[in-house]
Amino acid sequence: MATIAANLQAVMHRIRDAAQAAGRDEREIALLAVTKTWPAEFVRQARDAGQCAFGENYAQEGAQKAAELAGLGLEWHFIGPVQSNKTSLIAANFAWIHSIDRVKIAERLSVAREGKSPLEVCLQVNVSGEASKSGVAPDSVLELAQTVAKLPNLRLRGLMTVPEPVTDRAAQRRPFAQLRELKNELADKGIHTDTLSMGMSHDLEAAIAEGATLVRVGTAIFGERTRETT
Ligand SMILES: *Cc1c(COP(=O)(O)O)cnc(C)c1O
Repeated sequence: MATIAANLQAVMHRIRDAAQAAGRDEREIALLAVTKTWPAEFVRQARDAGQCAFGENYAQEGAQKAAELAGLGLEWHFIGPVQSNKTSLIAANFAWIHSIDRVKIAERLSVAREGKSPLEVCLQVNVSGEASKSGVAPDSVLELAQTVAKLPNLRLRGLMTVPEPVTDRAAQRRPFAQLRELKNELADKGIHTDTLSMGMSHDLEAAIAEGATLVRVGTAIFGERTRETT
């Protein structure tokens, strides 16, 4: 039972060490605890150990946990593929969405968010060799960003990516460097963002070395999933 708390501590140490190695302030890097497939009880344990931001991949599953744990002041992030028939459910239950990859989805989310605080959003980018097929192509990021930035109920915060899993550190850093460069290119065009959502259990050090401001970690906190979601 103490495992989740101990694992969280270990991940925080990894973040601190990686920040130090990169000459960065660890406070620039937020930790998102990814709870897909795990019960609400695990979320509660992580919360008792001081974690407040949680990531989910499935709209229904995430909405259920958010409802069950309402009142605890948790911040829910949607990080999975967004289906257009789930945009209302997602807009109602999540504060952040990391996985916008097309205009139609962004528009539907903005409409669904009417009358509430803006949704904090990232564009998911399919940098070369991305394992999941989700994500906007690098050469279409600017156009999508320009459109999303104009939608009334979304606030464009930055870019997200899920690279192909590789073990070599130099190879891990390449797609993260690309995402950082894309964020800089947006800034050159007048679109300023503050978030690079990149890095998971196996590659958070590489992501932090390339400027990650938010790492999304599941396995290293909660253990191996027995069911995958994507
Ligand atoms: C599952 C998932 C994570 C967490 O991955 P781990 O390897 O378990 O740390 C992060 N981001 C996304 C988009 C995911 O689907």
